[in-house]
Parts: sequence; structure tokens; C-alpha cells
Amino acid sequence: MQRRVVVIGGGVVGLSCAFYARREGFDVTIVDPGVAEGRASFGNAGVLAFCEQLPLATPELIRELPRLLLSRESPLTVRWRYFPALLPWLIRFALSSSSASVHRAMQGLHALMSGALAAHQDIAHACGTADMLTHTGWIKAWQKAPSRTGSSERDMLADLGIGMRELSSAELADLAPGFDGVFEAATLFSDCYHVSSPGRYIASIAAQCQASGVRFVDGVVSEFRQERGAVRGVLTEAGSRIDADDFIVAGGAWSKRLAAALGDTVPLDTERGYHLMLDVGAAPVLRAPLLWQEKSIVLSQMEDGLRMTSSVEFAGLHALPRYEKIERTLAAVRNTVPSLADARINSRWLGFRPSVPDSVPVIGRSAQHRNCLFAFGHGHLGLTLGPVTGKLIATQLADRPAPIDLGAFSPARFN
Ligand SMILES: Cc1cc2nc3c(=O)[nH]c(=O)nc-3n(C[C@H](O)[C@H](O)[C@H](O)COP(=O)(O)OP(=O)(O)OC[C@H]3O[C@@H](n4cnc5c(N)ncnc54)[C@H](O)[C@@H]3O)c2cc1C
Repeated sequence: MQRRVVVIGGGVVGLSCAFYARREGFDVTIVDPGVAEGRASFGNAGVLAFCEQLPLATPELIRELPRLLLSRESPLTVRWRYFPALLPWLIRFALSSSSASVHRAMQGLHALMSGALAAHQDIAHACGTADMLTHTGWIKAWQKAPSRTGSSERDMLADLGIGMRELSSAELADLAPGFDGVFEAATLFSDCYHVSSPGRYIASIAAQCQASGVRFVDGVVSEFRQERGAVRGVLTEAGSRIDADDFIVAGGAWSKRLAAALGDTVPLDTERGYHLMLDVGAAPVLRAPLLWQEKSIVLSQMEDGLRMTSSVEFAGLHALPRYEKIERTLAAVRNTVPSLADARINSRWLGFRPSVPDSVPVIGRSAQHRNCLFAFGHGHLGLTLGPVTGKLIATQLADRPAPIDLGAFSPARFN
């Protein structure tokens, strides 16, 4: 009989786990409430950011942290009511900036990134959506040229073999036609790709999973059912029980409670992020996604308009969205970029990045239950790393040796 696997969560990570588990021949069921827009995987900037191999908590960022937390115009917002709940995570975040920890995280991310593009190509090929992966590169641009565009972070990335080069004004004008004259300096990270509709991309993975026999259950897992100390099933809020041999927790930012129910303590919080969809007409204003350094926004040309995503808000999973800040940023952008002056806002979105303090996703077996595996905590890089995570999880399910050392991703590292 086929071994039965339940995947909790149908974002890019859960779907990728299901895709590869099914390919290994498992009998797979995904449990998810099925609200596509509720997933971080739906509204992200669409950058396959293979170059992002440094953790967020670098010494440079930690030096800046007090200013970032206190300034009204900072890209980082904390809702102060949430601060006590966030504090333990913030302390761990600061501790993760030690050079040993940064080095460990870099090695882990580098190893994971090495298989990330191949996994996307593999999945996209199976889904018939290979044309959705566009090799655009990823631009980081400055309105005012910094005295030195390099930094120790750039040097570390160069040491890892990341492709990057400064763009001439003519090249920038070609890649960012709607931003003529806005930026004085820009670097192209040439190995990166773009997905112009993350929502359609993950819907195609779901469709392929379904076609290959994966079952979808519309529901929220509320608890695990154990028999003689072993997990044998999950129970949904509606009261359905689904039994299986193995369980994968891929609930994105909501995974902490599920891990805790299994007895594992993982310091997961959410870095909330917003997007606005702008109607910019038919002609593309960008041919590659662009990070506007001074404003800490990412602009991406999507199938249905220009997407502007903001950086980080700490306020937990339940606070209502506040679009004022990203709309203020848009007003400032409009003043500088004539092509966006009249662009209508078509929609607004809030998403929940699942973030651990050391920026290294949690991929591996629960420390308490060997038949439960964790696949969450991908923070800013979940779209990039979802497929390769699924492939690694399926290798573990099949009890085959992983192609990379999974020690860096182990849930047990937080104990
Ligand atoms: C503004 C913004 C921009 C971003 N830009 C990029 C980018 O350009 N590139 C990149 O690589 N990443 C980006 N990210 C990050 C990326 O989107 C996330 O890391 C990724 O989507 C996380 O995927 P996931 O599958 O873990 O979580 P999600 O997509 O959030 O999916 C989790 C799923 O689990 C389900 N779930 C939760 N709890 C339960 C339960 N108890 N029972 C059943 N189901 C449950 C939820 O309903 C949800 O469907 C961005 C994120 C944001 C917010």
C-alpha cells in the first residue's frame, strides 16, 4: 500500500512538497482553507532572488536597527502593542548577527540556492508554465548614487560567485523605460528570474498536483491525533479527521502553533508586507524587477499591472491592515516618476512572510515526532525556495540521502 502523506498548507512550499511527494509515489492530501489571496505566495513581488544568500541580521543592519525601529519613515514598522510579543524574536534576531551565525546562515542559503532554479524549471516544465520563468535579472537602484555602491555584504556575495554588475544609464533606460532619469546608479544581479503572476504560477502547481492524484481538503488543521505516542492523523476545525503515515507542516506564517502542538518550539514570527497593484496601461514600465533602495520598495511588472511591494511591518497575524504607509510612499514615488503620476490603484493586499530570526528556513523532521516534517520559515525568499524545499522534503520522506547537508535547516537548532 502507498504511504499516505498529509501536507498542511497549500502555499508555494506546501504545493511543492505535495508535487515532489506525489512524484515519489506517495498518496498525498493537502489540507488548506483554500483562500488563495490569504497566502504570502499569492501577492509577493515575483522575484526568484537566487542572489539573496545573506541573512537579514547582518552586523550592518543591527547597527541601523534602533533608527529603523524609531523613525516614522523607516521601511520597518512595529505596532508597539505587539512589541512585547515580538521582543524574544528580536533578541534572537540580534544574536543571529554574530559572524559565526551569519557564516552558518550563508552556507545554508548558498547550498539551498544551488538547487533552487533547477527545481523551479522542473516544476514549471511539468505544469506547462516554463514560459512564466523569465530570466530578467534583479535591479537594485539608487536615486542618489552612494559614495560606494559596494559594501562588505557585496564582497561576501561576490565571494559566493553571485553575478552582479553596474548598469550604464542606457542599459537602465532599456530595462526600466518608465523610470527614465530617476536613478543615478543601479546594479543588476544577473542570475535572478521573475515570475509575472505568482498567483497563476502557484495555481498551475495546484492544478498539476490535482491532475496527478493529490487530494485537496478544504479546512484548517486544529490538532494532531496521537496513538501510543505517535502522530496518526490531523483534525480540522470542522471536525474531519484525516489519517496518514507522514505529516508535513507547511503552513507558512501560521506554522508556529502547529509545530508547538507537536512539542517543537520554533521562533517563527511574521514580517508582514503590503502590495499595491497599479494600472500603468499596456506598455511595460519595467523589464526586470527593481528594488528602489532609498524607498525600500520593490517594483515588478506583473501580467495585470505594476506591483509595488513594501518592506516589513511587525504586528502579528491578527492586526488589521494599515495601507497608509505604502500609500504615502506611492505619493512620494508619483512626485518623482511622471509615468506613475496618474496610475490608478487597482488593488491592495497584505501578506504574511513566515520569518525565523536567522533567515534560514526550517526544513526537516520534528525533533519530537519522526513522521512529522517541517517546511516553513522562508521569510523573504519563499517563492524562490519553495520548489527546492519540496524536493528536499520528498527525499526525506523517501528516506534517501539529501543532496545537501540539511543540518543548517534543522528545527532542532532552536533548542
Ligand atoms: C510583500 C511580499 C513580497 C515578497 N516578495 C517575494 C519575492 O519577490 N520573492 C520571494 O522568493 N519571496 C517573496 N516573498 C516571500 C514569499 O511570498 C513567502 O516566503 C512564501 O510565499 C511563503 O510560502 P508558504 O507556502 O510558506 O506560505 P503561504 O503562501 O502563506 O501559504 C501557507 C498556507 O498554509 C495555510 N495554513 C496555515 N495554517 C493552516 C492550518 N492550520 N491548516 C491548514 N492550512 C493552513 C494557509 O492558509 C496558506 O494557504 C514576499 C512576501 C511578501 C509578503
